[in-house]
Amino acid sequence: MADSAIASSKTRPELSKAWAGLPSWRVLETNFGHGEQFLSVWHAWKNDPKAPRLLHYVALTDVPPSLEALVNCAAQHPELHVLVDELKEHWLGLTPGFHRMVLNDGQVLLTLCVGELTQLLRDQQFEADSVFLNPCTSTTPLSEVWNSWTVKALARCCRRGTLLGLSSSALPLHSELKPCGFQFDADAFWGVFNPHWQIKRSRGAFNLTAETVGSCAVIGAGLAGASVAAALAKRGWQVQILDAAPLPAAGASGLPVGLVVPHVSVDDCAQSRLSRSGVRLMLQQARHLLRRGQDWAETGVLEKRLDGTQDLAQTAIFHQQAAWLKPTQLVRAWLAQTGVRFTGNSEVASLQKQGNQWLLLDTEGQEICRAQQVVFANAGGALPLLEAMQAAEPRLNLNRLPPVHGMRGLLSWGLHDSAPEAVNANFPTLPVNGSGSVIPWIPVESESNLNAASQQAWYVGSSYQVDKQPELADAVNHLANLERLKQLMPELGECLTPHFQSKQVLEWKNTRCVTLDRLPLVGPLVEADHPSLWICAGMGSRGMSFSVLCAELLAAQWDNEPLPVGAALARSLFALRGRGTQAPNPQD
Ligand SMILES: Cc1cc2nc3c(=O)[nH]c(=O)nc-3n(C[C@H](O)[C@H](O)[C@H](O)COP(=O)(O)OP(=O)(O)OC[C@H]3O[C@@H](n4cnc5c(N)ncnc54)[C@H](O)[C@@H]3O)c2cc1C
Repeated sequence: MADSAIASSKTRPELSKAWAGLPSWRVLETNFGHGEQFLSVWHAWKNDPKAPRLLHYVALTDVPPSLEALVNCAAQHPELHVLVDELKEHWLGLTPGFHRMVLNDGQVLLTLCVGELTQLLRDQQFEADSVFLNPCTSTTPLSEVWNSWTVKALARCCRRGTLLGLSSSALPLHSELKPCGFQFDADAFWGVFNPHWQIKRSRGAFNLTAETVGSCAVIGAGLAGASVAAALAKRGWQVQILDAAPLPAAGASGLPVGLVVPHVSVDDCAQSRLSRSGVRLMLQQARHLLRRGQDWAETGVLEKRLDGTQDLAQTAIFHQQAAWLKPTQLVRAWLAQTGVRFTGNSEVASLQKQGNQWLLLDTEGQEICRAQQVVFANAGGALPLLEAMQAAEPRLNLNRLPPVHGMRGLLSWGLHDSAPEAVNANFPTLPVNGSGSVIPWIPVESESNLNAASQQAWYVGSSYQVDKQPELADAVNHLANLERLKQLMPELGECLTPHFQSKQVLEWKNTRCVTLDRLPLVGPLVEADHPSLWICAGMGSRGMSFSVLCAELLAAQWDNEPLPVGAALARSLFALRGRGTQAPNPQD
């Protein structure tokens, strides 16, 4: 393997001694190169019986290597081929920003950060256990890439005792590293972060002390709650997830089918960046847990822009990294993970603190369960419950939660099998969205006979209506969906008009929980060193793109892990972010 990074012979003994018996290990590499260092560490981790259960690897790069370069870098190392094969599947859409790749059955988490070095270092929010500094400055002088600001930004990502491995090209940096707290003894290639001053941190509202793994209750078993439960269980938490309904996915997540598709905007706003990261993570979960073609399919989605946002220079965008997906199936798969226990028919009506535990009580005041940590993932049900708790927990500062409202939605649907061939011929082969959406050719299983040959259905959606207004009749919402369809796909709209008029169209409806700034709420509900009340809600119309990312973000804060997105973007989701100012756009 090329020695542009730290020689693996030096890497392995140091790491295997340092990480032995620990639950997780966090690596920061300042230059991903062609991936040689990452592959070497992953291989060492895989073959070390004492290696930690979770390996976090954050690698920075100004330009990610091509797929060809990635494959070539391991060409001479047959033992790495299987790793490269797994990594290859993730090598798509590596635009500037953070890209989380879940590898090795979820035990190796690679976060590839693309951008300018100092900026990327400043956007990190974790303390590395070991750092690889490998500048690879064949074309740019070392001093142009690494100056005292870059070294200070690196030091900010270290805890006392962080190991620092240097490549030979980084050895001249000793003179910059030593004043920033890095010490070197006999071995010039390995140092340690051990400043002679007290380390001070000012990292905003992020929790930097890992919580001791224990018991957790999650309220609400939709996409938000189930993904949080699975993310925490993977990290060793015992999670009890409660829902008022007898079965999971009884709220908006009971949607028969929806789209996992990135949001695009001229200014690449927070919602767009978040959706890109979220879609990547959601598709990884789907590949791992769902039946392709039955529960989901990565068909891609054609987005037609009909709303005057054509300054994006395209009237249609094909999103290759996009899919249709049945959320109920995914919720069930998450609840089946080891460490997660679901209890239905359990409406949480109040909470009481007893010692270091929370008691969750039902409408009769009876205890449902108790836990050290509680996550409110009950969408629009969270705020009333929190308001009722305010007296018991005066530190709850609900004024700092952005306003949330309910937005009703109705999805119109029918079976292809009962539509004439001439009508079916007008359906696209894959989903189309824009103002509204059409999702065709979705297999549906008969509830009464799961072995029966599956039929196919089409879905056209979805209406929007603020839930404070009196509910509109279903027929009115169906017609609103038809009007949107006529704009999106005029010929199909005309063909389906008789179906809508003769009331042959079925409906599914529920309410979305929407924040004023359209960003979910993720984080602690009180400002404290070890907050025990957390929220993960406000997924709006994009729960299928946001939920996994939000769950990973919450779990990362509990474990002081690298975040799946940059710190600045993560901060925009803070639950206690104050009142939003943007007016809601009902079509968004
Ligand atoms: C018509 C329509 C179309 C949509 N299309 C898409 C789409 O194409 N793509 C997409 O990404 N998103 C779509 N969405 C949005 C998506 O469905 C939501 O963002 C997502 O399901 C929200 O998940 P959640 O877990 O936050 O909320 P929910 O699924 O509503 O779950 C909240 C749960 O909390 C429970 N609960 C509430 N209060 C309590 C309590 N006190 N005690 C116990 N349990 C409680 C409820 O019973 C419920 O099960 C659509 C939504 C609608 C309505």
